[in-house]
Amino acid sequence: MIDIKSLSRPELETLMTGLGQPKFRAKQVFQWLHRGVASFEEMSDLPKALREQLAEQCSLTVPQVERKQVSRLDGTIKYLWRLGDGNCVESVLMRYRHGNTVCVSSEVGCLMGCAFCASTLGGLVRRLTAGEILDQVIFVQKESGEKISNIVLMGIGEPLDNFDAVMRFLELVNDPDGVNIGMRHISLSTCGLTEKIDKLAGYRLQLTLSVSLHAPDDETRSRLMPVNRSVGVDRLFDCCRRYFETTGRRISYEYAMVDGVNDHDWQADLLARRLKGIPGHVNLIPLNNVRESPLKPSTRTRQFQQRLEQQGVTTTVRRRLGSDIDASCGQLRRKTLGLKDTE
Ligand code: SAH
Repeated sequence: MIDIKSLSRPELETLMTGLGQPKFRAKQVFQWLHRGVASFEEMSDLPKALREQLAEQCSLTVPQVERKQVSRLDGTIKYLWRLGDGNCVESVLMRYRHGNTVCVSSEVGCLMGCAFCASTLGGLVRRLTAGEILDQVIFVQKESGEKISNIVLMGIGEPLDNFDAVMRFLELVNDPDGVNIGMRHISLSTCGLTEKIDKLAGYRLQLTLSVSLHAPDDETRSRLMPVNRSVGVDRLFDCCRRYFETTGRRISYEYAMVDGVNDHDWQADLLARRLKGIPGHVNLIPLNNVRESPLKPSTRTRQFQQRLEQQGVTTTVRRRLGSDIDASCGQLRRKTLGLKDTE
């Protein structure tokens, strides 16, 4: 079966001409797919015979809402989707004054093993297809009735570990006949896979790259993020510098403040030194408590921020949204599936 929603526009045209159809059918089908139809039958302006042929040859992904939680504090909505094969992933809809942002997952589970993150506790189950990543945007929009204006690839999974599907997703979601979200309205967050960051730089996309840094020194970063053991902070910053030089885009560094681990003054000073000459911006994140983790949120966020700013580093503190609905990634999936550490 052909996974039709993951096809690029040219591939969809080839499929249509292969079925003896004129090219313009590709645009019709594309528009239906991106509006979130539940069956080929619904594509009412296509000939009946074509709808039947498509139903025979292609699979159509339609994620089901397994759970939905609405924050009473700020209207953030968290969706747990059940995919065709029974696996679940989360997406979060956040409402800001400047528009609606949806946070999407790129994988079921995660390989990276970060100490503070709920998504990685059961390892990687599988990577999502481009269509399944796109579905989260399409169906959040459809379910909520809200127009989405921004996307962050910050849900479950490591997007650069699913490189090809993510690139395909970006192309699809950017298409004017589909959801039509400009690259400048998309952020991609990575734990820092340097080879893949270099590869991404080659595409010179206008998206915002977020690097999950969480510590400026190897000892702390390796403790929090096993991925650092093979790359190291020096090589990561070299890579970030190359990314900026190639794309001209400032990187955003994510830094979850962990009590007594990465919130010391010397770490703010080291971070400021490391960022000298690489235009970028630090986003301090209040650590979300993960039940299975002993790490606790820092109480020094403001001091840390001031210390960075005194040394010329642009720093923001992330607003906490949806704190009453397990909105930090991976937690709803684990709760609902009843997953344990030992799974
Ligand atoms: N794998 C990618 C994207 C998914 S995680 C990455 O590592 O960037 C999205 C962001 O949430 C990352 O910055 C991650 O480090 C952060 N994060 C994960 N668990 C968290 C927690 N418990 N509290 C605060 N931030 C967390």
